[in-house]
Amino acid sequence: MANEREVLDVDVLFVGAGPASLAGAVHLARLVRAKNVEREKAGAASKEVFLAVIEKAKEPGAHALSGAVLDPRALAALVPDFVERKCPLEGSVGEDDLYFLTARGKIRVPFTPAPLRNHGNHVISLGAFTKWLAGIAEEEGVEIFPTFPGADLLWDGDRVAGVRTADKGIDKEGREKPNYQPGADFRAKATVLGEGTRGSLAKKLFAKRPDLVEGRNPQVYGIGAKEVWKVPEGRIAPGRVIHTLGHPLAKDTYGGGWIYGMAGGLVSIGLVVGLDYPDPFLDPHERFQEWKKHPLLRGILEGGSLEGYGAKSMPLGGYYAVPKLSLGGALLVGDTASLLNPFRLKGIHLAMESGMLAAEAIAEALFADDFSEARLARYDAAFEASPARRELYGARNFHQGFDGGLWSGLLHAGLQLATGGRGIRERMRARPGHERMRTIADHYGAPRKAPEPPPFDNEYAFDKLTDLFKSGTEHPEDQPAHLVIREPDLCVNRCVREYGAPCERFCPASVYHMEWDGEKPKGIRIDFSNCVHCKTCDIMDPYQVIDWTTPEGGGGPQYSRM
Ligand code: SF4
Repeated sequence: MANEREVLDVDVLFVGAGPASLAGAVHLARLVRAKNVEREKAGAASKEVFLAVIEKAKEPGAHALSGAVLDPRALAALVPDFVERKCPLEGSVGEDDLYFLTARGKIRVPFTPAPLRNHGNHVISLGAFTKWLAGIAEEEGVEIFPTFPGADLLWDGDRVAGVRTADKGIDKEGREKPNYQPGADFRAKATVLGEGTRGSLAKKLFAKRPDLVEGRNPQVYGIGAKEVWKVPEGRIAPGRVIHTLGHPLAKDTYGGGWIYGMAGGLVSIGLVVGLDYPDPFLDPHERFQEWKKHPLLRGILEGGSLEGYGAKSMPLGGYYAVPKLSLGGALLVGDTASLLNPFRLKGIHLAMESGMLAAEAIAEALFADDFSEARLARYDAAFEASPARRELYGARNFHQGFDGGLWSGLLHAGLQLATGGRGIRERMRARPGHERMRTIADHYGAPRKAPEPPPFDNEYAFDKLTDLFKSGTEHPEDQPAHLVIREPDLCVNRCVREYGAPCERFCPASVYHMEWDGEKPKGIRIDFSNCVHCKTCDIMDPYQVIDWTTPEGGGGPQYSRM
């Protein structure tokens, strides 16, 4: 029957083909093979193990975006001959600078703080790196299923028993089309959630199992908007790293910029904005465009051309926001588990390490045939004893230190460096970022309309739709919108008055538009086909009524070198 739900029994299912899942799958395949050799030597039968990775993009890497500077610690452990195996490195980091920007000028910080020193690291494109790692996973016998977004967790009592993927062939009214295919059930003994930031399955999991995040700080996030430019030869060396603070962000807004030289005359540039800003009129994409007009950026980009665009959120909560990492039948890895060092602005190596630690716990569970919560908790224990935990613990109060703004944040950062991550007190609490957004009346003292953005010169600064064209984003329009506003009346009755419909601004892909009947708001139009899957709306909506759900597989950005 064409419309019957397919059921696939696998041993271990990794959700999301990012570095955490792929490193975990590669390590697990090797551990199983080694254990089977031991068993055969001892006269026992070897164990066939089916390892699968599901991915919502058309191919691994197509939804992957990061700066990125890679600390090769985990890569060297997983693939010691990564250079010989042609790992796509853009350049080894040589010069490494930090600037404080004013509107027109720049002050070079005379010493780069240790966490921002990058000697020994490599500039990479996360998309290209992920694709390469996926190739290694396939060589190890791991099956990768692109275009399969995880829509729901399957449960067997209180144990996670796999994932149901999204249906295909539903029209925008929710009716079955001739090509309708219900989502497949991947039934697994262990399910590894490596969905990236604000994973939609992890969100459901935490709602069902609040004890997993109980006692932790609430997660806080940032959004990174990124462009890749082709610039005239010799303008920036591959591996050159520059970070910026200050302009164009206000002192009460967390964030900063990056400029990384890539191979082939390319340069990766981007601006991170903390998704805990107070100004309801702030538009992270517009700030990014403003940043590019600074003389430092113009000097690099002049005569160049825009090659790629994208945006993605990242977890900034650090160690105190790490949830319990395991439960019966499931484990959390990478950004899904808050494993990003906000001081170093790095998480790829921690993601890979978490995947590998999860793999070790799963390997034991496979041969003991025990996937209980108690058995998989060995992953939590292994993480607590790992270099990844030590590194995160050393930056445990970093983002919280910026609660009082840039200057107190920098002071706190200095104190934390001197005290092994503690700072002035232990432990610094955090608030969810959306709660820090102030109403227009609070922030500006009186009701007012959002200002028009500064002009986009189409040379250095582009509007969202122009940028979006370079992301390759597409979703077939005849499907239900994957962005669900649970209480749409709030948009017209309260949000437009209290916050001025901030979704129009915090979305970097021009998805949300308030429609008007004269002076009266009519409702929000959702151009979901523009969505680059950054999750910012799910995170930053002040009323928390937007749900990012999984669209039909294969939709979204088509990043190639991001
Ligand atoms: Fe990001 Fe939401 Fe906009 Fe999609 S709709 S691009 S997830 S903010």
